[in-house]
Amino acid sequence: MRSATLRWIMVGCSVIIAFILVAQLYWLRRVYNLEQQQFKSSVLKSIQGLHGDIHIADDPHQPVKQLVDIVDADTYLVQLDSIPQKDTLRLYLSNEFEDFGVWTDCNVAVFNKYQQQYLYQYYLPAASSKNVSTPKTGEPLIKMGYHYLLLYFPHRGKYIIQEMSFWIVTAVLLLLILIGLSVSLLYLYRQKFLNELQKDFVNNFTHEFKTPLAVMKIAADVMIQPDIIQKPERLARYSAVIKEQTEHLQNQVDRLLKTASVENKKLPVKKEACQLNELIQNALGQIEPFISSRNAVVDFLPDENEPVIHADRWQLQMVIINLVENAIKYSLNQPHIIIELKNGDSDYYSISVKDNGIGIEQKNIKYLFKKFYRVPTGNVHNVTGFGLGLNFVKKVLDAHNGKISIHSVVDIGTEFKIQLPKK
Ligand code: ADP
Repeated sequence: MRSATLRWIMVGCSVIIAFILVAQLYWLRRVYNLEQQQFKSSVLKSIQGLHGDIHIADDPHQPVKQLVDIVDADTYLVQLDSIPQKDTLRLYLSNEFEDFGVWTDCNVAVFNKYQQQYLYQYYLPAASSKNVSTPKTGEPLIKMGYHYLLLYFPHRGKYIIQEMSFWIVTAVLLLLILIGLSVSLLYLYRQKFLNELQKDFVNNFTHEFKTPLAVMKIAADVMIQPDIIQKPERLARYSAVIKEQTEHLQNQVDRLLKTASVENKKLPVKKEACQLNELIQNALGQIEPFISSRNAVVDFLPDENEPVIHADRWQLQMVIINLVENAIKYSLNQPHIIIELKNGDSDYYSISVKDNGIGIEQKNIKYLFKKFYRVPTGNVHNVTGFGLGLNFVKKVLDAHNGKISIHSVVDIGTEFKIQLPKK
């Protein structure tokens, strides 16, 4: 499975997971509302039952809804035409609560309209509860022009949540399953991504090393022929080929090892005075065989002020080599590279490497310095590499407090501009 397909699967799964979560929250909210309504209806039915038991209103047919005033979700006032006896009320009320499933505790108080105070108050533990302690009642007085029975349910919210425990446990389990699933998907995606990186790396590694080794083997085969000693120019040419290829391999290995060993740490820098014109010339000299093998035209515009900076010579040369090699590698026709060193007025020396190559799409530019990153079309143009060169360039510049910027137009060319602090 390609990583683009996997990415779409990941996006799809994330959308489904988000949808399931929202749906869960919506259903929990609905269940909570239903439980609230259920509770209210059970309390009203209990009051209806009480009305039938002890005739709290003179008219036995008076609808209970007219008798009840719901102050808030926890507090009910029931109009009384006559005041029931404390024990009778307790007995019938607890029976009714049990019959209609009001399984939570309640503070009961009876208000007398003449005295404008509670005649009595008590605590009714939850039906079937073994709770013998009697928490304080002492409800705030609500003054009314009629007798009433006050029912206050202090733990109604908790009770409703308890009633919903099945739904909550199911939702939490589902959430845990979804989290587990997301983590596994993420792990799978990462693994797939790393696998692809590794595969690309091995492919490119093989390609980069196979060609020079094959060339060296051919040169060596020629050199071990007994009559080669009679043809000194041939011998010299093939020795030069071997030297060239060995240097190329050495450079590649050096770069690989350096990049692999620094990881996220800062690059160790061995500073010395470097004449920048000369340093760039040297770097170009080192890749001269590569430049001529590609028929590239490389113009170097030095700075006449002969700028000198304190820097790690090898590292800066590798930066130039990387940029120029890339400029040549990623060209379509005959590469024409312009390298310009400028003293500038600012606090930085600038070196720009400009090519007439394939260019880089804007959306890819931000990833260029990531380790192992290669623009996906890189392989389409049949150019191999490890995706380590620019990462190394960036590390060298960071270690020298320098900067790098890229300006590129697809099919026209790219300019890499590096800036190195003068001090
Ligand atoms: P590589 O070994 O693949 O060349 P680099 O880190 O040097 O690795 O470059 C990363 C990617 O940036 C390359 O794969 C290529 O797609 C893109 N790139 C670098 N330089 C240029 C350039 N001058 N023109 C076009 N694309 C470039």
